[in-house]
Amino acid sequence: MLFLLAIAALLATPIVGDSCQSYNHPTYGKTGKCIKTSNCPNSLYISNLCESQPADVKCCFSSGTSTGTGSCPTIVSRASWGARAAKSKTNMATPVSHVVIHHTTGATCTTKASCITKMKGFQNYHMDSNAWADIGYNFLVGEDGNVYEGRGWSLVGAHCIGYNSKSIGISVIGDYTSRKPSTAALSAVKALIKCGISKGIIRSNYVLRGHRDLDSTSCPGNSFYAEIKTWAAYRSVQRISSTPSFNFPEDYLVMRDM
Ligand SMILES: [Zn+2]
Repeated sequence: MLFLLAIAALLATPIVGDSCQSYNHPTYGKTGKCIKTSNCPNSLYISNLCESQPADVKCCFSSGTSTGTGSCPTIVSRASWGARAAKSKTNMATPVSHVVIHHTTGATCTTKASCITKMKGFQNYHMDSNAWADIGYNFLVGEDGNVYEGRGWSLVGAHCIGYNSKSIGISVIGDYTSRKPSTAALSAVKALIKCGISKGIIRSNYVLRGHRDLDSTSCPGNSFYAEIKTWAAYRSVQRISSTPSFNFPEDYLVMRDM
C-alpha cells in the first residue's frame, strides 16, 4: 500500500527541467512545467520544451496558476456607475470556453457620463421589463473607450441562450449595423479579453463568436460582425506564436462543449 502511494506521489510530481521553466510564454509568463499531457489543464502545452522527457511529457501552461503578463484595462465598477443590487446571482465555472460579442443597439455614448446614463437604462430595462436578475451582459464597452462592469467575471450572464454559463458576454454600446465601433471601443474589447485570459477566467484557446452565430439575431450588427470575423480567435482556437505543436482541430471546443 505504501509502495503504491509512493508511486502515486511520484507520478503526480511535475518533472522539472529542460527549457520549459525558463521559457517566457508571451501570455502566461514563466509558468511551464514538464508533465504528462493528460494532466495538463486546458491542454495548454508546447511539445518541444521538455527535450529529455518521455514523449507524453510536454511543457504545460496552466492558466489557473498563471502569473500573467497581460495588463487589464480600467473597468468602471458597478459601484462607480451606480448599479442596483442584483436580484440573484449564479456563479460561473471558469475558465470559460467562449467569448460572445454583442451590440446594444440604440444610441452610442462617447463620454463616461453619458455611458453611465446608458448603463443605468440597460440595467433598469433588463431587471424591470425583462424581469432578469441583473443587467444581462458580463461587461459593456462604450465608445468613450471605457469598460463598464455588468455581471462581471464570475457570474452567469443573460445574453446568449445556451452559452450564458460558459462564456463572457461583451456588448458594445450602440448600433453597429452600418459602421464599426470606435477604435477606442475595439481596443477596449480586445484588452478586456486579454485581461480575462491573464486572470484564468477565459481559456487562452477560447472561441470568439458573434451573438448571431448562436441565435437568430442580427447582433452585433453587420459592420461589427465583419470586424470580429477578422480576429484570430473567431470560429477557431487562438494560436500562440512560436508554438508549432499547439494545435487543435478547428472548432474543437465547440464540438466538445455544445
Ligand atoms: Zn446580442
